[in-house]
Amino acid sequence: MNDIQDLFSNKLCIRCTGRIFASVDTGLTNYDRGLKLAFAHNAFFGHVEIPERCYICNGIFDNLNMYLNMALEAINSMEFSTFLIGSKFDPDILLEEQKIQNKYGNKGESIKKEFNREFGKYFSEHTGKEFSKNPDILIEINTVYDSVNLIVRPLYIYGTYLKKRRDIPQTRWINGTGDSIESLIGEILIKHTGGKNYKLHGSGREDVDVMMLGNGREFVMEIDEPSIRNVDLKEFMEEVNASNSGIYISCLEFSTKDKIREIKEATYDKVYMATVECDQEISRNKLESTCNALKNQVISQRTPVRVIGNRADLIRKKEIKYINIEDIHDKEAVIKICSQSGTYIKELINGDNGRTVPSMSSIYGKELRVKNLDVIKIMR
Ligand SMILES: [Zn+2]
Repeated sequence: MNDIQDLFSNKLCIRCTGRIFASVDTGLTNYDRGLKLAFAHNAFFGHVEIPERCYICNGIFDNLNMYLNMALEAINSMEFSTFLIGSKFDPDILLEEQKIQNKYGNKGESIKKEFNREFGKYFSEHTGKEFSKNPDILIEINTVYDSVNLIVRPLYIYGTYLKKRRDIPQTRWINGTGDSIESLIGEILIKHTGGKNYKLHGSGREDVDVMMLGNGREFVMEIDEPSIRNVDLKEFMEEVNASNSGIYISCLEFSTKDKIREIKEATYDKVYMATVECDQEISRNKLESTCNALKNQVISQRTPVRVIGNRADLIRKKEIKYINIEDIHDKEAVIKICSQSGTYIKELINGDNGRTVPSMSSIYGKELRVKNLDVIKIMR
């Protein structure tokens, strides 16, 4: 019982006193628990004087409306449906509070925790938005400087793309100039989201001069600081597809950051259509036996000279599922190739000066080159 008398010698307000025992009597709010303790004090030791200004909370719980207005101003017209509250307190105050709570068996909770909870409730009541651990926005209240910092979670949109041109890369160059699949989709998406920046995450990539046809390649677009989250995906898709850029998107849906890893780790077999050329007339018999020799074979590909700056120089084993001849005309042949994810098709055909073994050129006995190449199906 003497504890109660001692408790009020700390000169805390009712709420901060109640918070010292937050884990005891959990059915009560900290304020009600503090009130109960004050009544007990009054009954046994006479009326207790409660300080007007408490040095731990400094009246912060009476200022929720001020923080609400600051938060609403920072949010402005930004769309969100879920939020999380964070806060910063003076570290000296947190330490002081911890010292007091330690004195009484460390059964309390920090003011930070109570503030986040109480302000979260208040914010939710006034906005109708829901609290979430994976929120659209994080509202950070700095109680030392009375400021609000807003952290906006990026928006992720999944889809597949077709690329019907042979002159643009998948993503932007570092200097950001020139068209890319990323910029042709991203610039339109910025208009639909009010976002600050965008990034395309692809499930692998094709070369600049390779078309992506068939069922398309999976991607996730990440949009930073979107002010509009409820994007009309159909409208966005139609605008990209009508833009005459040679890029077509479909299968759009709202997605998550986890999806990026999932599509990047996917290892789908791919089907290609290649036009192959030779200096001499191509022999159907020889080409057929070349294709047959490679069917279900595992080839060794040392990182091609043309990409060595971007990828580690090592040898990869890749399985060729099949190669079929579609057409032969004089010095050109059209072939269909199905191979394991990550096979370098141009090198499978030209041999890359012996870095790909065996290759179509090495088996055929004459140099074969790729005139053009398209991905026609991703086996997912
Ligand atoms: Zn207080």
